[in-house]
Amino acid sequence: MDKTKIHGVMMDNVTMDEALEYVAGRLDGTGTAKIYTPNSEIMMQAQRDPELKRILNQADLLIADGAGVVLASRILGRPLKEKVSGIDLVKRILENTEKRPISFFILGARPGVAEMAAQNIISRYPGAEVKGTHHGYFNAEEEDLIIERINKSGADILLVGLGAPKQEKWIHSNASRLNCKVAMGVGGSIDVLAGTAELAPEWMRRAGLEWLFRLIKEPRRFRRMLDLPRFVLLSIKRRLRPEAAHRKTSAK
Ligand code: UDP
Repeated sequence: MDKTKIHGVMMDNVTMDEALEYVAGRLDGTGTAKIYTPNSEIMMQAQRDPELKRILNQADLLIADGAGVVLASRILGRPLKEKVSGIDLVKRILENTEKRPISFFILGARPGVAEMAAQNIISRYPGAEVKGTHHGYFNAEEEDLIIERINKSGADILLVGLGAPKQEKWIHSNASRLNCKVAMGVGGSIDVLAGTAELAPEWMRRAGLEWLFRLIKEPRRFRRMLDLPRFVLLSIKRRLRPEAAHRKTSAK
């Protein structure tokens, strides 16, 4: 697959259709495909956390969630084809179950939420089966049991919504113990599927303003969201003076 390097992170330069095709292919393959969907905040976190950067670079599919990452790719002169957000990819996979049944295990969100998401999924997408759920507030001792439940369920796709970068780190360290064909970090998508969180209206998403919607809904995220303008600024600096920007971030 065509890759585009954005601040040391090798993003897959794919369209939504290509991402979907990749997922479908992995369902018939061997091993567990690790899929992450970094947004500007995670990309910025990866600049400060070399372990996270390494984890992102070892993904099987790394797609841009959010207009900020696509904007950065354009600023850097290596444009990504399009935004392929986690929730949109999950919805497309669910729609595709009409052609080919797929089973899921949902891991993450507050207690009760994954079950609500499962209910909505099976009532909206008859070809989708949810073989198990577990909330995302577990401790290390419970982990073995959860992995055993996921493996026993025989689910094709594991959706992991533990927030970033927890979900990426969790998938990375447990992928070799998982039997599912795909493990995907989905952030707050479980809440969206459950109806406990709202997605930005289509016009805002099309305008690349989902961050503004999120800021209005969850003002407490303000500090963390400053990473978005920081990420865009870093991209501009690197475009203008590639060496100087590199020295500055590596010195941090
Ligand atoms: N979450 C979880 N376990 C945790 C922390 C968060 O299951 O230890 C869930 C949370 O309930 C929400 C999702 O992870 O459903 C995404 O959380 P948040 O919006 O904070 O994450 P981000 O936007 O950083 O991905």
